[in-house]
Order: sequence, then structure tokens, then C-alpha cells
Amino acid sequence: MSERLVVIGGDAAGMSAASQARRLKKPGELEIVAFERGHFASFSACGIPYWVGGDVAERDELIARTPEEHRERDIDLRMRTEVTELDVDGQRVRTRDLESGEEAWTGYDKLVIATGARPLRPPLPGIDAPGVHGVQTLDDGQALLDSLDRTKGRRAVVVGAGYIGVEMAEALLNRGYEVTVLNRSEQPMATLDPDMGRLVHRAMDGLGITTVGGAAVTKILTGDAGRVRAVATDDAEYPADVVVLGTGVVPETGLARAAGLPLGVHGGLLTDLAMRVRGHENIWAGGDCVEVLDLVSGRERHIALGTHANKHGQVIGANVGGGYATFPGVVGTAVSKVCALEIARTGLREKDAREVGLAYVTVTVESTSRAGYYPGAAPMTVKMLAERRTGRLLGVQIVGREGAAKRVDIAAVALTAGMTVEQMTALDLGYAPPFSPVWDPVLVAARKALAAVRSAD
Ligand SMILES: Cc1cc2nc3c(=O)[nH]c(=O)nc-3n(C[C@H](O)[C@H](O)[C@H](O)COP(=O)(O)OP(=O)(O)OC[C@H]3O[C@@H](n4cnc5c(N)ncnc54)[C@H](O)[C@@H]3O)c2cc1C
Repeated sequence: MSERLVVIGGDAAGMSAASQARRLKKPGELEIVAFERGHFASFSACGIPYWVGGDVAERDELIARTPEEHRERDIDLRMRTEVTELDVDGQRVRTRDLESGEEAWTGYDKLVIATGARPLRPPLPGIDAPGVHGVQTLDDGQALLDSLDRTKGRRAVVVGAGYIGVEMAEALLNRGYEVTVLNRSEQPMATLDPDMGRLVHRAMDGLGITTVGGAAVTKILTGDAGRVRAVATDDAEYPADVVVLGTGVVPETGLARAAGLPLGVHGGLLTDLAMRVRGHENIWAGGDCVEVLDLVSGRERHIALGTHANKHGQVIGANVGGGYATFPGVVGTAVSKVCALEIARTGLREKDAREVGLAYVTVTVESTSRAGYYPGAAPMTVKMLAERRTGRLLGVQIVGREGAAKRVDIAAVALTAGMTVEQMTALDLGYAPPFSPVWDPVLVAARKALAAVRSAD
């Protein structure tokens, strides 16, 4: 008899899991029902800043697979259907059709929870005023674009200077807005150490983006017809015709919490290596709603990234489909950009190393993206952390122009392999003048880190 797989959440993790399971099991062996409360499935939120900024012309370019395409592959994807309750003992989910209001229970043999993350919307006066926008979904992106079309003013305030905040600052700048970014920390990109964040700050200043550090927003001020007119902090007011929120996310685990499933300190679901929810044989979870093991610090973290969500989905789909796959953990690699400035990080920051009790050395090197004499060579700053005594690589941050971001992948591989900075100095990286100096900036940093490790003890 055919088993039924129910998937909650129809984006990266959920539909990757469903698609992979379908590749392995025929419809007669496994019925797949997926519930998605939104208007879109399998879309790229990652592309929203580039759609809003005009690099991507059409919303639909961000849709990897339509609901109809999923259905053609024998995945019964039910859009605008929210799962409102999870009955673990009874192996069933209660759903509500958001168009008709109709409610129903659907039983499952296997369940995948892929409910993603919820954007934090600080409970400030005026936060729901017209002109204040999140950028989590394609509906959000469309609402922002409509708002930009409608507004006559050209002043935009972005709240939060994480990667979404800086990407949105670029998007608004590209659309001709005067952009101010308000950030609670002193420097933008708190996923970097403050000294590297300062480089981003300086570059944003150079682009004409006003970045205000240490700015805790206290309220959104409204004007005509209740529309946003300014953003207030403790000591200033920033005029705004439009406001974009990039204030972070938390795991969307309300259903799981109510059902008594195990959650970690960050509120994400806890899974084993096969992405099975701990203690639950027939329930899997992946994507932004789970916590992941940080292979460098050995701690659980919540990192909301599409790159992990897709991999989780593949692993879950393989296991649900009768195969075998594991997700061992992450090293914390992330890249982004603001205009031509590329920003990359992997592994631990100084703060993270201190928190887990690791003694470390740091080095920072200034190099270039290409041989110094080759046209287009641009400056690149690489910061490297290595453990004292052992010399084990702990983390790398890179800020620079073309070629800076993806260079961090060298360090991601080295971290995953548990390499020391001494071993890194011998890496056989490619060289030709258009691509790097004869000593790649990452190798220069590794050499310098090795010297620092040796002289520290
Ligand atoms: C602006 C922006 C830029 C980004 N850029 C990058 C990037 O450059 N690189 C990167 O790696 N990541 C990026 N991300 C993050 C990436 O988009 C997410 O990590 C990824 O989408 C997570 O996939 P997911 O399937 O876990 O969750 P989601 O994509 O959030 O999908 C979860 C789905 O579940 C649905 N759902 C939730 N609860 C229920 C319920 N009870 N019933 C029915 N449906 C439900 C939701 O409607 C949602 O569609 C970006 C995100 C944003 C917002």
C-alpha cells in the first residue's frame, strides 16, 4: 500500500525534499502532499534585492518551479493552504484553506517540516504604516515595488545593516533613492568583526549611502494619510518616503513548539544528522526552521540561508525516499555585496572564538584581486583567525572588489577539512595575472597567520 508524505512549507527546503523523494519513489509507492500558505512556491527570496534594484527584470524569473510544474511531477502541492495544527500522536495535520476558510485533517506516514523563518518586525509605534516594507516574500517585493512607483519622494531608510539591509540599500540606491541605513551595532554586517565591518561602512559612505551605527529605532512617524514620513531613534529623526526592514529572522516553529517537538536555544527544531527530528522516527525538518551544528565551534546555531535549506531538502528527500544521506553541519560561510564591494565570511569571528574558549591569533593583510600590474587590480582585505599553538584555521573574512567573495570558499574548504594555516600555505591554488597576484591573498594571510601562531607561544 502507498504511504503518504506530508510536507509543510512549499519553498526551498520543502520542495527540494518533495522533489528528491519523488525521484526515488513512484506515485504508487509514495503519495506526496505539500501545503503552502503563500501565493508562491519554489521561489528565490535571495533574488528579491536584485529584482527590486532592477538587475532582474521580472518577478517570475525568481520562480524556480511553478505549482503546476510540481503537480506534473506528481506532487500534490496545495497553495494558500496553511497548516494550523500538528497532531504528532495521531499522525495528522489540520489545514485551513486561506481562500475558502475550509478546514480539514490530513493523515501522514511521514512528515517534513519546512516552515522557514519569520522576519522580526519590532513592535514599534507606526511599524505597520503604509510605506514600511519587509522583503521576505515575492508579495513583499511586489508591494515594495508598487510603493516605490507611487511615492513622489526619493528618501529611503533601511532599518538593519545585515546582508539583507545592505543589499536593499544597493537596490534603493540603484533606483535613484537617497539611502540612509540605521543600524543598532556600530558597524554594518555584524557577521563580520567590527574592524572588517568598518571597511564596509567606509565603502557605503563612498557610495553615498549614509550609515548610522548605534542607532536604535524607537518609532516610525507618519504623515498624510498615515503614510510613513520619518524614522525616529533616541536622538534623531530621519525623513523617509519609504522604509525597508532588514531586522533579522527567527525560526518559524510555532506549530512544532505547540506539538511538543524538540527546539534548541535559538528556537529552531533539533534534528539528527539525517535531518530527522530528534526522537521522532517519521518526522524530518530542514531549512530556516532548524538549528545546525557549527563544525568549527561545535555549537548549534540558527543560520537562515537558502544554501543550507536546499541541501537539507536533498538530504531529507533521499532519506524519506528510502536512500541514505546526512547533513554534517556548516562552517558559517556567507557572501553578499553592496554595489561593487564584495563581503565574505566563514568560520568564527573573534567574538565567537572567545565565547567557546578558543585562544587565537588574528592577522589582516591588504592585497589585490589580480597581479598589481594587471588592469583592474583592486584592493582586497583578508582577515584570518587561527588557533594558538595548533595553528588550526578558525575563520576568514574578506572585503574587496571583484573576486573577493568567492575566494572565501577556499577557506570554507580548509575549515571543513580541519586544516592548519601551515597546511593552507601549501595549497595549490590557480594563478595567472588576471585572476590573482602570484601569492593569492588567502595564501598571504595563511603565511602571516602561521608566523603569528609561531611567535605567540
Ligand atoms: C531578501 C532575502 C535575500 C536572501 N539572500 C540569500 C542569499 O543571497 N543566499 C542565501 O543562501 N540565502 C539568502 N536568503 C535566505 C533564503 O531565502 C532562505 O534561507 C530560504 O528561503 C529558506 O528556505 P526554507 O524553505 O527553509 O524557508 P522559506 O523559504 O521561508 O519557506 C518556508 C515556506 O513555508 C511556508 N509556511 C510556513 N508555515 C506554514 C504553515 N503553517 N502552513 C503552510 N505553509 C507554511 C511559508 O509560507 C514559506 O513559503 C535571503 C532571504 C531574503 C529574504
